[in-house]
Amino acid sequence: MNNRRKIVIIATGNVGAAVATKIADFQLATEVVLIDMNQDKAWGEAKDASHATSCVYSTNIKFHAGDYDDCKDANIIVITAGPSIRPGETPDRLKLAGTNAKIMRSVFTEITKRTKEAMIIMITNPLDVATYVVSKEFDYPRNLILGTGTMLETYRFRRILADKYLVDPKNINGYVLGEHGNAAFVAWSTTGCAGFPIERLDEYFHKTERLDRKAIEQELVQVAYDVINRKGFTNTAIAMAACRFIKAVLYDEHTILPCSAILEGEYGIKDVALSIPRMVCATGIMRSFEIDLTDDEREKMYAAAKSVRGALDGIQA
Ligand code: NAD
Repeated sequence: MNNRRKIVIIATGNVGAAVATKIADFQLATEVVLIDMNQDKAWGEAKDASHATSCVYSTNIKFHAGDYDDCKDANIIVITAGPSIRPGETPDRLKLAGTNAKIMRSVFTEITKRTKEAMIIMITNPLDVATYVVSKEFDYPRNLILGTGTMLETYRFRRILADKYLVDPKNINGYVLGEHGNAAFVAWSTTGCAGFPIERLDEYFHKTERLDRKAIEQELVQVAYDVINRKGFTNTAIAMAACRFIKAVLYDEHTILPCSAILEGEYGIKDVALSIPRMVCATGIMRSFEIDLTDDEREKMYAAAKSVRGALDGIQA
């Protein structure tokens, strides 16, 4: 029986290291390989994680630093290489486009020399730009390239709403869609809680203060920068989002989650990567769904497409 599950993480900064830790927590691999241009950092993170596997609560995952040859037989490759927004900087991930597109090209050049079979989980920002660049410029199966996209904003949205109504965030359903970043939007028509539609929540949960949709949309975008400005970076929730997709692939879940890939005409949009609900299974993205949106939500999807397309034109100019 071959239960081997090898996951390669490219870059072991704040995010890559957190993804490694969560993979261990959830026992999602038999082997985890860490690659970084800073080889000492990769070695140190791998050693530290390997020591934790001695604990009685841990699985004996083989953690080690490696190189691109490790991609040859990897099941999943998680890409976190490249800088993030720093505290106090302009609150817009799109400013990272030029630098990180170059890094994505160099990372993907190395990967595609070794494999075209591994599932690729993209995390590097600007997420939709990075996902587009590697999908469009490299001969790699599109279904195997998945950007974590607005899964993270969807988690943030659930937490914000859960705090308002004092419920478990997992009782909140619905999606944040569009760009991972400033043009993310709540598809309010998809949202609700424990079977109640969004319009009825104030009444059911006895709130006198009306739900302010605009304020919530602003908060779920702004909160990322608030965390960066205080903590220095974000890594815990994105690592959980990455592991959600890893689990969906490893367990062939056919689960529907918001994530980023190039749109193929959904909402009349092509040639730009954005998040919409997509079915994820062992073969990657199996289907994408053009769910019903209101006119206002469609306008926000077009605005997200314009935002990401603008950044792409900027790096290609
Ligand atoms: P970081 O600065 O802590 O780490 C970046 C790492 O990338 C460094 O260790 C660096 O050595 C490495 N690196 C740079 N170029 C490389 C290359 N060519 N090959 C291999 N390694 C390389 O940054 P971070 O906080 O870990 O964030 C990483 C990325 O993840 C950023 O782009 C950030 O914006 C993004 N991010 C995305 C989400 C999301 O929801 N998609 C959430 C948080 C962070």
